[in-house]
Amino acid sequence: MQTLFANVRIIDGSGSAARDGEVLVTGNRIEAVSERPGGLRAAADAAVIDGGGATLMPGLVEAHAHPSFANTANLEALGDIPPEEHTLLTMKHVRLLLDHGFTSISSAASAKPRLDVVIRNAINAGEIPGPRMLAASPELTVTSGLGDVNRLHMRRDTFAVVANGADEFRAVARMFVREGVDTLKINPSGDEFVPYARARHTVMTEAEIAAVCEVARSREKRVAAHARSAESVKLALRHGAEIIFHATLADAEALDMLEAAKDRIFVAPTVGITYATYKEAAQNGITLPDDVRRALEVELESACDNMKALQRRGVRVLPGGDYGFAWNPIGRNARDLEHFVNLFGFSPMEAIVAATRMGGELMMRGGELGRVAPGFLADLLLVDGDPCADIRILQDANRLLVIMKDGRVHKSAVAAGRTARPLAAE
Ligand SMILES: [Zn+2]
Repeated sequence: MQTLFANVRIIDGSGSAARDGEVLVTGNRIEAVSERPGGLRAAADAAVIDGGGATLMPGLVEAHAHPSFANTANLEALGDIPPEEHTLLTMKHVRLLLDHGFTSISSAASAKPRLDVVIRNAINAGEIPGPRMLAASPELTVTSGLGDVNRLHMRRDTFAVVANGADEFRAVARMFVREGVDTLKINPSGDEFVPYARARHTVMTEAEIAAVCEVARSREKRVAAHARSAESVKLALRHGAEIIFHATLADAEALDMLEAAKDRIFVAPTVGITYATYKEAAQNGITLPDDVRRALEVELESACDNMKALQRRGVRVLPGGDYGFAWNPIGRNARDLEHFVNLFGFSPMEAIVAATRMGGELMMRGGELGRVAPGFLADLLLVDGDPCADIRILQDANRLLVIMKDGRVHKSAVAAGRTARPLAAE
């Protein structure tokens, strides 16, 4: 089956300027791209989508997704959801992400041990609609680390599994390998909203980090590290973590180490959540304690400096903003691209490249995902307007006229015609 996108303006994900042209999809791959109107020939039964000058671009990749986070106001409420309801909710969220143009997501933690895995498997089997997905473990954390909300008199769940010591971390890492995750998530640093584990604190020991990384390496899995403190970034890098989340408080040495590892690592600062927590706290009904507000101000400023520096040094910095909390809900994930432009000084095209071509590399499908080019997988968006003129239009699902994943139309607001062009040998 073929689909011909005619009369479109192509942003191909490489960073080259947009150009007019047409794109032919055969099966689940892009077969040909032409800059000449009428330059491509399609089969007689091909669906023809006349873009009317709209923008055709690669589907977006979310680098820090939490499809099983339930937009709750706190971590305990997330843990309180029973598994059955939670599975349905996660199913709803992956569809929501696809509806908003995210054709791929790399999960940054599952809220219950197997939620990511079962949802990824159901998407891959064609049972439910959703993006391509890399499934993560819950957040492996220490007692008193981010995600440990237990009380002395009461066991509470959240998105974390608590372990202590290298042996326990090795055991839980092996368990999640058995359960089928793609990514092992660890929490070596804290976070400003955790009174006993702040962002500047490095709470896992080197031996614990090393143990998880060793399991991942031996099983061809990846480690993604919640690393805000400078020391946590360094420890994660030293032991081979490939996905560094946040890196907001990275110091000069950590930046040098990130640059030295730039060909194998990805950084996702998750500025969406920091921005919403700090800049929009009042309008979201959040009252921040004074010391937390001051710390977030410093962290946001440091994040902006660090991401500008990392981009200059050629490190892959990707949008993905920890959407999944009450004040930063799932669905508006494309807002991160706007933050990259406004806060980090990316051009709109640079933000798009980070969310498409680099996203394809993050999905471990570099060279076949994240670009509009022959041979690439047909994950495509037809966008009403020019996202390089206004990056915010990507946040409006109504402006996404066509969403195609793996060559199949997930959504189309454009009636497809039939080709009038005969298939003939050139
Ligand atoms: Zn997260």
